Amino acid sequence: MLAVLAPEERARLDDAVAVLGGLPLAVLTGAGLSTDSGIPDYRGPQSVKRNPMTYQQFVGDESLRRRYWARNHVGWRHLRRADPNAGHAAVARMEERGLLTGLITQNVDKLHSSAGSSNVIDLHGTFDRVICLQCASVFPRSRVAEILEELNPGYLERESDAGDVAPDADADVDDTGDFSMAPCPVCGGMLKPDFVYFGENVPKDRVAAAYALVDTAGALLVAGSSLTVMSGLRFVRGAFKQGKPVVIINRGWTRGDEFATLKIEVGVSEALTYLAERLPDVQPSR
Ligand SMILES: [Zn+2]
Repeated sequence: MLAVLAPEERARLDDAVAVLGGLPLAVLTGAGLSTDSGIPDYRGPQSVKRNPMTYQQFVGDESLRRRYWARNHVGWRHLRRADPNAGHAAVARMEERGLLTGLITQNVDKLHSSAGSSNVIDLHGTFDRVICLQCASVFPRSRVAEILEELNPGYLERESDAGDVAPDADADVDDTGDFSMAPCPVCGGMLKPDFVYFGENVPKDRVAAAYALVDTAGALLVAGSSLTVMSGLRFVRGAFKQGKPVVIINRGWTRGDEFATLKIEVGVSEALTYLAERLPDVQPSR
């Protein structure tokens, strides 16, 4: 259910329409957009503090890696079951109306694609793929799930009541010591969910593709990200340096606020729904 926007919130969003209207937009989204789909945010105002594992911990410490896979084994199903919300649908409508140069998301939940967006850059990867760190083979998460289920009979049934699942599919499970990890079916190497960990770089070609969306846009709209990590913040800086308007919709402070033409603290789904209705068509440039 969408909340009703207060008059002052509508006035702020009308300011955003004035700033963005007629310009082709690049959109950057983060975890704040998926909270309405039941996926909690690490960093939102009401978020549970949780320290995501770093890449170095994952590859360097077998017991941490075991714990990670056990929690992911329970948690990824939660992401697979999640449905896109009104905010995702609004972004898809903006694309359909020809308002966007494209969409960059920091979320690994694939809810933009589920909502019908087609030009999506999954900046931090997606939860439904697994990569081998040795031979670089990529596997569907569902295939790895089958292997893990065979290796760990009864585990899911035992731990299925895991309460909280983080946006990177990390379920709140403690009993992970006897969990058996799956080796790469091709080479026996170490498998890792194919998303970007803290302490890991976004692949260069993906960054370049995302910059291209910002370069061809007339303005940047950020929704539901606190821009805490450089992987997203750099696009805000990039747009700012090019003299393009930046509008940030997020509850709470963001690291990009100083670069924003307009910062609006309002519910993300409500704001995007409003903007998708009110933004005028893009004016052809001459
Ligand atoms: Zn391999």
